Amino acid sequence: MSQPEVPHFPMIIGGQPVSSGERHEVRNPFDLSLVGTCPVGTVDDVDRAVAAARAAFPEWAALGDAARAHYCTRIGDVFQAHAGELARLITLEQGRPIIANGFGSQFELGGCVGWSMATAQFALDDRVVLEGGGVRAVQKRVPKGVVGSITPWNWPLLIAVWHLLPALRAGNCVVMKPSPFTPLSTLRAAELLNQILPAGVFNVVTGDGEVGTRLSLHEGIDKVIFTGSTATGKRVMQNAALNVTDCTLELGGNDAAIVLPGAAIADIAPGLFFGAFINAGQTCGAIKRIYVSNEQHDTLAEALAAIASGTTVGNGLEASSDMGPLQNAPQHAKVKALIAQAVRDGANLLAGGTQVGEGYGLTPAVLANCTQAMGIVAQEQFGPAIPLVRYDTPDQAIAMANASEYGLCASVWGSDPQGLAATGDALDAGTVYINTHAELHPLVPFGGHKQSGLGTQFGEEGLLAFTDSKIVYERHRA
Ligand code: NAD
Repeated sequence: MSQPEVPHFPMIIGGQPVSSGERHEVRNPFDLSLVGTCPVGTVDDVDRAVAAARAAFPEWAALGDAARAHYCTRIGDVFQAHAGELARLITLEQGRPIIANGFGSQFELGGCVGWSMATAQFALDDRVVLEGGGVRAVQKRVPKGVVGSITPWNWPLLIAVWHLLPALRAGNCVVMKPSPFTPLSTLRAAELLNQILPAGVFNVVTGDGEVGTRLSLHEGIDKVIFTGSTATGKRVMQNAALNVTDCTLELGGNDAAIVLPGAAIADIAPGLFFGAFINAGQTCGAIKRIYVSNEQHDTLAEALAAIASGTTVGNGLEASSDMGPLQNAPQHAKVKALIAQAVRDGANLLAGGTQVGEGYGLTPAVLANCTQAMGIVAQEQFGPAIPLVRYDTPDQAIAMANASEYGLCASVWGSDPQGLAATGDALDAGTVYINTHAELHPLVPFGGHKQSGLGTQFGEEGLLAFTDSKIVYERHRA
C-alpha cells in the first residue's frame, strides 16, 4: 500500500510561497509520526523577507489606522473560518489535545480570534499633551517600520498572533521566525492571511538559532519581539543592541503559588492543578512551585495527586486524552531528570512521572516534601511536574517565592481577604493572581519583572509598544 503523502508547508516571503532545497521534518511528539515538512530557511531568506517587508511598509503605513483596524477584524475572521484545520495542526505538531478540558488547541484558536478582534478595538489616537500660551503639542503614534518576531513552541499560533496583530495594527510589516519544533501552524496561517493582506506585510522564514540571530541583528529590522527562554532572550537583546533596536522580551518564569493557612483545600485544588498543568506545564505563566503550610501540606499533596491520577495522557487527536505529551526530546529529558533528582534528594513522588507512548508523554507528577534547594523548585521545569514546599509562616513563603531570578507571575490562594491582598502586594511579579493562575486577557497588560522579560504585551500599552512617539510642537504666531 502506498504511504499517504506528507504535506509540505512553504515559507511565505513577499506574498509568495518559497521552498529552498533542504526539508525539515516535523513530528507528532506523542508517537513521533511524521506530520509535515517545511523548508530549512537560511539567512539569505531572512534578507529577502526583510527586503519584502521594507518594500511593503510605505503603503501599509500610509493606509491609515481605521483600514488597518479593519484588517485585524478580517484576520480574526480568517482564524474563525479555519479554526478546525489550524487547531488540528497545532495538536499534531505541538501535542496538546484539541479539547483538553477546554484548554486545548481549539482554545488556542479561540484566543487567536479573540486577540485579533480586541486589537481592532483599541484606540490609537493623537493626544494633545500641551495647549496654552500660544503653544500646542500633539503626540502622534507612528509605526516603527519592520518588526522581527521570534516565537517558541509551547503555544505556537497564539504567541504568533500576540506578536503579529499589534504590529500590523500599528502600521508595521512583519518578518516572523517560528520555532523549528512547531513551524507548521504559523506557516499555514501565513498562507491564509496572505490571501487577504498585501504582499510583503507578513512574511515567515523558518529555521533555527542562526536564522533568529540574523533577524535580531538585521539593520532592516526596527523592533524585535521575542518570546522564549531567558538565555536566548539575552542573546537577542545583545544582538538588537548593535543597531539600538527596540526589543520586547517575554521570557522564562518560575511562578510560585502560596496557599495561605486555613485555605479550603478541596475548593482550590482543581484551580491549582489547572494552573500547574495547563498545556502539560509548558506554559510560561504556569505554576511551577507551590508553598503550603506544614499543617495543610499533606492534605493538598494528596488532593493534587488524586487529580493527577485521574488525568489521561495520550495522543492529542484522541478524545480520551486530557493532557498531551511534552513537545520535544530535550524538554522531556530535562523534566524526567528533575523529577528523578528530586526523588533522590528526598521528595515523595505521590503520582505521575511515568512514560506514556513512544514519544514524550509523561503522566503529571506531584512531588511532596520538596525543598527550596532542589532543581525542580529552583529552576523552570516547564513540564508536567509540580513540587510542594512546606513553610512555617506566610512571611517565609513570600521570601522563598521572591527568591528567584524570574518574576513573571505568582498567585496567592485562600479565603482571608486581608491576607490575600497583603501577600499579593509582597510578591514581586508582573502579574499577581488571587485564587486563580494562568489567566490572560487581551485587555490586561502582561509582562515579566526581573529576568522574565522586558516591556509589555496586550492592552493599549502593548499596542503602543509597536509605535514610536512623534511630537508635533507648534507655536502660534500672530
Ligand atoms: P528558546 O529560547 O529555545 O527558543 C525560542 C525561539 O528562539 C525559537 O524560535 C528558537 O529557534 C529561537 N532561537 C534560538 N536561538 C536563537 C538565537 N540565538 N537568536 C534568536 N533566536 C533564537 O525557547 P523555547 O524552548 O522555544 O520556549 C520555551 C521558553 O519560552 C520557556 O523558557 C518559557 O518560559 C518561555 N516562554 C515565555 C513566555 C512569556 O510570555 N514570558 C511565553 C511562552 C514561552
